[in-house]
Amino acid sequence: MQNEQYNKLFLEAESLEVSKQVENLFEQQIKNWPLATGGYSSLASVEVKKFEFDNFSIEAHFNPGRIISSSAKVDSKSIKERLCFLCPKNLPADQKAIRLIGDYLLLVNPFPIFNKHFTIPTSQHTPQQIKTEIENVLTISSMLGKDYSVFYNGPKCGASAPDHLHFQAGNFGFMNIDNDFAALSKSNGKVIFETNDLRTSLFSSCLRNFVAVESNNISAIVNEFAKIYSALSAEDTEEPLMNLICTFENVWRLLVFPRSKHRPTFFFEEGEKKILISPAAVDMGGVLIFPREEDFAKVTRELIVEVFRQVTFSDIEFQKLADRLTFGKG
Ligand SMILES: [Zn+2]
Repeated sequence: MQNEQYNKLFLEAESLEVSKQVENLFEQQIKNWPLATGGYSSLASVEVKKFEFDNFSIEAHFNPGRIISSSAKVDSKSIKERLCFLCPKNLPADQKAIRLIGDYLLLVNPFPIFNKHFTIPTSQHTPQQIKTEIENVLTISSMLGKDYSVFYNGPKCGASAPDHLHFQAGNFGFMNIDNDFAALSKSNGKVIFETNDLRTSLFSSCLRNFVAVESNNISAIVNEFAKIYSALSAEDTEEPLMNLICTFENVWRLLVFPRSKHRPTFFFEEGEKKILISPAAVDMGGVLIFPREEDFAKVTRELIVEVFRQVTFSDIEFQKLADRLTFGKG
């Protein structure tokens, strides 16, 4: 891409603090980019069903704007045959960006789930992977501050561009886990490792088993994530299936949701039996996205339990992970 064309992507006023630049970008885009204007105004018609469980809640959202992402073909043949929608040279003419750290850009997502929803790709076309990028997730989370959650979908569990490295961010408080976390820590969290600046806990019996790492020390949390990553990957060389949600308010809170598979069986059914749901980080955060009305109409508590049962770690798999994580830490 020509430098001049690339530079036109950016709004001016980079001397402002990042949170202010983010607000300005959002305002500019919903005002001047019809696709974004339409996307955010359509959020008003999203329908919600809320389900209360013991110490947490789950919501189902009917959001037709998400059909492209939820039904995205992510096999390598389909990926090779399409233009990458995250590469700067392929972005729509009206799209603007701000620079974060390194090669990371922040863009307004024109097909939102959140009231404010951003995509955070690198400027280079490089595959989606987390192993070397966790520090960037944490840094970006602290740059965006307490008003946003930053999240990551692995290349085989929710990323609709597995060929282009990216994270996303959405306003804090939108995902049920954001506010359920404190109570859930007391009822369902078990601390397995604690030092003066880091705490790792396992959360079970809340539909999706997950790990939480809390720390104000970025290198401590990077090291702890590396241990979790290697405990998850065991002998496999591919990236272990996972979604991450990261928040920052004086301390980082990194939630790691290990996944057993990408999509539940009913995604692949035909006709009446089909339910189009493609769980990713937002779903792990407690907001299940249904882009088709006929599927949303069928949502029950039992369906929600079944979706999580199929795509997240079983108690047995989670116990094995716990054993690997605590080995030598006793
Ligand atoms: Zn790309």
